[in-house]
Amino acid sequence: MSDESETLHGGCQCGNIRYRARRPVSSGALCHCISCRRASGAPAVAWFTVKIGDLEFEQGQPDEFRSSPPVIRGFCGRCGTPLTYRHGQFPGYIDVTTATLEDPEAMPPSDHIWTSHRLRWMESLDRLPAHPKTRGT
Ligand SMILES: [Zn+2]
Ligand SMILES: [Zn+2]
Repeated sequence: MSDESETLHGGCQCGNIRYRARRPVSSGALCHCISCRRASGAPAVAWFTVKIGDLEFEQGQPDEFRSSPPVIRGFCGRCGTPLTYRHGQFPGYIDVTTATLEDPEAMPPSDHIWTSHRLRWMESLDRLPAHPKTRGT
């Protein structure tokens, strides 16, 4: 029996790396920690989690960076897209950046984590003026 319906596809911005993630164990979280922030260049990062054997790279392999002693972050060495996160304390699991999915809408985060690190202006974003495209259009 195929579990293709539970298989998520994604990859980096330049197309060098493509992955297939089966049977996500968690729809994940929006992480506000300072480490994710610096590694991504974004104010927060959405992650979902799969068992390590359920993530397959169909094309390319991420380069890796140890952002703290137990943490290895994977990213595309060509375009820099952050892709994966592994923590030594949870060796059976790997987190994948939700925004690299072909359909990120399919995996909405279920909670915020590391709000102790959250940028204060992240708490009031809904009150900012909003433009469908760029400013002034
Ligand atoms: Zn790339
Ligand atoms: Zn984080």
